[in-house]
Amino acid sequence: MSAQKYILPAENIIPLGDDSEIRKNNAEWRRFLKDEGIDWTVEIQGLGPSDYQKKELKLLYPEADVFVSLAIAAHEMGHWRQGEIDERFSRADLGAPDPDEEKAKQFSYEIEADAWERGVKRTEKYFGPWREKFIAYKNKGKFSDFNSLDEFVDYVGGIILETSRFSRDLEGKTDQASTKQYADWIKDNQIMNDFFFNQERWHTGEIINKAEIEEVIKKVAADTAEEIY
Ligand SMILES: [Zn+2]
Repeated sequence: MSAQKYILPAENIIPLGDDSEIRKNNAEWRRFLKDEGIDWTVEIQGLGPSDYQKKELKLLYPEADVFVSLAIAAHEMGHWRQGEIDERFSRADLGAPDPDEEKAKQFSYEIEADAWERGVKRTEKYFGPWREKFIAYKNKGKFSDFNSLDEFVDYVGGIILETSRFSRDLEGKTDQASTKQYADWIKDNQIMNDFFFNQERWHTGEIINKAEIEEVIKKVAADTAEEIY
């Protein structure tokens, strides 16, 4: 019996802007954060689910500032097929093998760390045009803290992993008191504080090119379909 391969239907590639469903769904939480002086950036949103029964991949990525959006898209592609790779990362609602939602909650940090590593591994061979673009920005005096795009992607990874570490401690609570705790933590945490209050470090004003990133998303999906677990 030949195994059916995963596909990524065109309608499953979804760019996310300021008016995305994700932003609408967490509007209250973002309002609580804003009351504490933190404006959650449009770049930090995305999802990379796999439907293990239909054998379909899906990718929701930020259509926002170019290099952070690229890093987040790469990360979300790291979530593809995670439930097959490690049973701790399985998802009951998507029909993964050995589903256990409690475990998925318990291992949220490990899930994110695993997705970063795998996402970068799956996508970095397609970073070429953005590496050149990054160097062009460097030549104009931007990104002086980073030697390369790859270093910058690591930096964005650090932000996401810090976030998921603290979110786990809050057990996903989004009420006002928990959100205040979260905001206080961001302000006290050097990496997080820097990301939100020193956006000059990463903000270019250039929006990621949709056709270019979606081309890469399709290539990585095809590669991922060939992986054997
Ligand atoms: Zn993730």
